[in-house]
Amino acid sequence: MTDYDTFDDGLDRFVDPEVRELGDPALRPRNLDEYVGQPRTVENLRVYIRAAKARGEAMDHVLLSGPPGLGKTSLAHIIAEELGVEMRPTSGPVIERGGDLAAILNSLGPREVLFIDEIHRLNRAVEEVLYPALEDFRIDVMLGQGPGAQSVSIDLPRFTLVGATTRAGLLTRPLRDRFPISFSMEFYQPDELAEIIVKSALRMDIDITPEAAKGLACRSRGTPRVANRLLRRTRDFAQVEGEGVVDMAIIQLTLDRLGIDGEGLDGMDRKILETIAFKFDGGPVGIDSLATAIGEEGDTIEDVYEPFLIMCGYIQRTRAGRILTASGRRHLGMPAVSGQLF
Ligand code: ADP
Repeated sequence: MTDYDTFDDGLDRFVDPEVRELGDPALRPRNLDEYVGQPRTVENLRVYIRAAKARGEAMDHVLLSGPPGLGKTSLAHIIAEELGVEMRPTSGPVIERGGDLAAILNSLGPREVLFIDEIHRLNRAVEEVLYPALEDFRIDVMLGQGPGAQSVSIDLPRFTLVGATTRAGLLTRPLRDRFPISFSMEFYQPDELAEIIVKSALRMDIDITPEAAKGLACRSRGTPRVANRLLRRTRDFAQVEGEGVVDMAIIQLTLDRLGIDGEGLDGMDRKILETIAFKFDGGPVGIDSLATAIGEEGDTIEDVYEPFLIMCGYIQRTRAGRILTASGRRHLGMPAVSGQLF
């Protein structure tokens, strides 16, 4: 069974931006000009890429942080593409031992891009191998075992590490300090998402009205991956229950069937808000208690759901835990609490 089947079975989880679409690579922007949104990141990257190319050097290491589905992997591909070099993709949890990373590093060509997704999940032993590689472009490997073992230093070609993380706060300080360039990805504006939806519709040969593209954009959690996924589903409904064109009526029908509300919140988002409201009296509640009450991993709540709910102003993260704000109460249709400011 593919990821695609999994999310289709569970409508509650429909907007989980972690779930990757099968067709994602086809919809990925291929260069900086095709990349919609994140204007500051794109413009600065353009300068760094051009400067590195003009000097014939590897570009400095880059850290991309932000919630899933906002285009970090796409940007890593684009950086390599624009630099005119190969990209080696891997991810934090996949690299188990220092030796695994040493082998990857040793296979890199000059100025190539190494992409490490979920870089906050690298283990300490692997990080130790990474530090000298990032700073001095060398790795120290042990030859032999026991008393006769010898440490040998191997020089690497200069390369660019692009690290992506959904949790910049979990990165160790020494690792964070080794990225001269760092960008925080932001949720996309509805007009940016509408542009992405129109482009994706063209590539997928979907007939969508401009109004419907805007309507869908407003309910896509500020996330391109969610926008593309919803677009696919609207096509199904347009084909089977409509005339083949995705218009506002089809958007509404699709969202109703998928349990997505007017703000783009799905069943799990509402469950989080309702649990804080009713089981924890509006909070504050710690992530572990919330996760247990909901039956979801704390990490998933923090990575996937919370950032958008916080951005909407429905919940706040305080030292004591999560609290439901006045807007959050309003979204649930609850009366305001006197004296509540937010
Ligand atoms: P992340 O690595 O942050 O989880 P991805 O780069 O995998 O996100 O993006 C998910 C999908 O969303 C991509 O395959 C692409 O279709 C779409 N996407 C992301 N960012 C953009 C963008 N800026 N412009 C157009 N499409 C985008």
